[in-house]
Amino acid sequence: MALSGLDIYKLLPKKNCRECGFSTCLAFAMQLAKNAVALSKCPYLSDAAKTTLEEASLPAIRLVSLGSERVIRLGNETVLFRHEEKFHHPTAIGIIIEDSLSNYQIIEKLEKIHQAKFERVGETLELDLVAIKQTSSTERFLEVIGLVAQKTKLVIVLLSYQIEALSKATAQIATKKPLIYLEDKTCFEQVIKLALTYKTPLLVCGANLEEIAALSMLCKKNGLEDIVLCLSEGSLAKRLWYFTQMRRLALKKKERAFGYPVLAMIKQDDLYLQTLEAGVYIAKYASIVLLEDIELWQALSLLTLRQNIYTDPQKPLQVEPKIYPVSQPDEKSLVLVTTNFSLTYYTVLGEVEASKVPAYLLSVDTEGMSVLTAWAAEKFNPEKITSTLETLKVKELVRDKRLVIPGYVAVMSGELEERSGWQVIVGPKEASGIPAFLKNLSV
Ligand code: SF4
Repeated sequence: MALSGLDIYKLLPKKNCRECGFSTCLAFAMQLAKNAVALSKCPYLSDAAKTTLEEASLPAIRLVSLGSERVIRLGNETVLFRHEEKFHHPTAIGIIIEDSLSNYQIIEKLEKIHQAKFERVGETLELDLVAIKQTSSTERFLEVIGLVAQKTKLVIVLLSYQIEALSKATAQIATKKPLIYLEDKTCFEQVIKLALTYKTPLLVCGANLEEIAALSMLCKKNGLEDIVLCLSEGSLAKRLWYFTQMRRLALKKKERAFGYPVLAMIKQDDLYLQTLEAGVYIAKYASIVLLEDIELWQALSLLTLRQNIYTDPQKPLQVEPKIYPVSQPDEKSLVLVTTNFSLTYYTVLGEVEASKVPAYLLSVDTEGMSVLTAWAAEKFNPEKITSTLETLKVKELVRDKRLVIPGYVAVMSGELEERSGWQVIVGPKEASGIPAFLKNLSV
């Protein structure tokens, strides 16, 4: 509910009749403001008040779902800037497949998309969408849709220039809940009916804010709410400006016409510029980014950027604080200590694995802080490390009790040795130095 309790109270009948279960209208208004009670509990609301309050209770940017086997949720964003709260639903990234390609080329492209799968800080990063673009006959368009639907579980977008072709294509894969788009604006009302018939979201493209708003409101008037907005033309700078205005209008001015997820389609031959442009849209404020093709290095860059932007800035990614065996350690192995901040932990883990030296990795609960931050905040100090060693009974795993600490906190080595009774070895400052460091120690 975007209105305050007092704003809501002004719209209530002020009978204080208690029929809603609250002693006063004001008490009911306060609960409504917190979304803790249903509006329907008050039977005396005027139609005008009901409409205003229902509108105000809608999210500023609608949550739209695509797909069935694999589902992508878009929108429902609440802030302009990530640090104000967080961004909720990560940008879906996909590529476009034209139906003019041969079946062999299409399968090759799909294999490339499926290969773009990476593990990073404990999460699997992968692409989400494949858009099938009609450039030839209806028969070929339908044939390619059948082939793609058979070969992938990715969410499908249908881009067509003929209403007949799009109608048949939507019917063919309606159960997969694709996002559909028709280039021909003269059939816009027909395509709205098509989306309503098959309960599938519609991509609405306009050349400017006025056109997008008019088309969006036409959808709403016809009862179609699941839409995604798109700017049909424009440079990177223009799109960035438009996307920012649309987000502002939706969140700050409560302009319903712009309260939907946004899609950006990238046409750029230079791969570096293509990646840069996609990165800009991921940051501000596209819910879907479609590229004409993607190399593995581009996918890794964009998926990593997306993961960083859509991580809750107030809740760092953390791993469970415990002792992790790496490469089958035994009682002669070293114990390396680090924090439970995912990025730190997985970076250290990767380097220990790369060294091929068996070791134990001790992750200390630093509430998700990295080494120096945790040390400055007294969450990674001799007392905390000693108590973690004791709680996890680490001395039962190794004979020599040798503990490696990060080079950045070398200053704590003396006190840690005294407190814990372990031999403390100062490791490298950067994780990249770990393989050489471990190999030298084990010689
Ligand atoms: S039912 Fe309506 S009028 Fe009665 S107390 Fe509750 S909010 Fe007020």
